[in-house]
Amino acid sequence: MSEESWAKVQSSLRKNLSKPSYETWIRPTEFSAFKNGELTLIAPNSFSSAWLKNNYSETIQETAQEIFGQPVKVIVTVKDSAQENFPLSEPVNSLHITSSDTVQTVAKSVGLSKKSKSLLNLRYVFNRFVVGPNSRMAHAAAMAVAEAPGREFNPLFICGGVGLGKTHLMQAIGHYRLEIDPGAKVSYVSTETFTNDLILAIRQDRMQSFRDKYRAADLILVDDIQFLEGKEYTQEEFFHTFNALHDAGSQIVLASDRPPSQIPRLQERLMSRFSMGLIADVQAPDLETRMAILQKKAEQERIGLPRDLIQFIAGRFTSNIRELEGALTRAIAFASITGLPMTVNSIAPMLDPNGQGVQVSPKQVMEKVSEVFEVTSDEMKSASRRRPVSQARQVGMYLMRQGTNLSLPRIGDEFGGKDHTTVMYAIDQVEKKLSSDPQVASQVQKIRDLLQIDSRSKR
Ligand code: ADP
Ligand code: MG
Repeated sequence: MSEESWAKVQSSLRKNLSKPSYETWIRPTEFSAFKNGELTLIAPNSFSSAWLKNNYSETIQETAQEIFGQPVKVIVTVKDSAQENFPLSEPVNSLHITSSDTVQTVAKSVGLSKKSKSLLNLRYVFNRFVVGPNSRMAHAAAMAVAEAPGREFNPLFICGGVGLGKTHLMQAIGHYRLEIDPGAKVSYVSTETFTNDLILAIRQDRMQSFRDKYRAADLILVDDIQFLEGKEYTQEEFFHTFNALHDAGSQIVLASDRPPSQIPRLQERLMSRFSMGLIADVQAPDLETRMAILQKKAEQERIGLPRDLIQFIAGRFTSNIRELEGALTRAIAFASITGLPMTVNSIAPMLDPNGQGVQVSPKQVMEKVSEVFEVTSDEMKSASRRRPVSQARQVGMYLMRQGTNLSLPRIGDEFGGKDHTTVMYAIDQVEKKLSSDPQVASQVQKIRDLLQIDSRSKR
């Protein structure tokens, strides 16, 4: 009994399970050992392990018994659990769903009720979502609630920075649910729409029909829930909607640019409701994942892209997948209009991440960072490690990289002769904070606005 036997079990399961289920739960699960009738498997994280135990152990057991020709007990362990920081971070080995895994989600959506279908973007399906270490947990959780709504993870709260795939994941849940159960009542709504609907209902004295409408869903997807901030009356009504749905066993999925605890002026009771299921975050993708996203998108558009161009674009657009996609779209349009080849040399000049080719001087960056962080440029150039100073310095290095064409060592020079590895580290840190620390994100945005760079990063 060996790894090959597990491969046989996998391939048999592949035939009997839906493709997304197989790809998410079975394929990443590795063989560890088979001893005394015990088949030990390794799941990539504790979330997957729990899911496998609760939902697939019997299926695996039966299949394994057939193939091994003897009674089998299935044991699922977790890969390198020491590294795991459940539920907010993911283990490092990555699962990429490649373009060959085309699930016929869109084709099958003929079964959708017209109403639900029109609310969901047909592009936002699981098989168009590239899973990387940054999104593995959220993706697995999304798959889980689509497969078994209203069970373990209710609500599922997806959070993460702008343009990192929250809406995509959320709508993918809707599509997949409808694929599994075409009769399901799936409703996708932005918090803004919910608020406007509510105001209208009050004004027109139609509260009952408002309630009937929102409480009828089997699966409700509420996007950009951070916009509940400070809206007392909407929060009140949403609280009751939430409870009614939850009590009825309907699945609730919420998306927000920050975790519940960081939404200002959110009622305590809502915060605790939002936190009672599973909070899964999406983070900025690493280089490899960004390249995989571009690759996939190019394949979808049937455009051949040289690897160095993919690498180049992925290297320039780091913290927002919407921008990354936008860059590729512009590159494709540019090449087709000008007739220039798709090479780094011809495309690079028009892909300046500063938008319309706006360049700023290192001095301007210094000034604005200094203004927003209230730290002098001399302090940034010094060796001080005081937190406000080092924070400002890191942001300065990051924005100088984005807004000027200075090389890393030259940026180091601007900051009093720092090493280029320090600059690299700083850029990395800021990129991470952009998706995890709303305060830093808003400070960076403020400086960008002041410098009038990167206008496309705003929605
Ligand atoms: P958010 O709601 O977090 O602001 P979106 O879900 O609107 O972000 O994603 C922005 C764009 O990036 C969408 O076009 C989406 O399809 C794409 N995108 C985001 N994440 C991924 C991913 N992991 N794989 C493929 N495309 C992605
Ligand atoms: Mg969104």
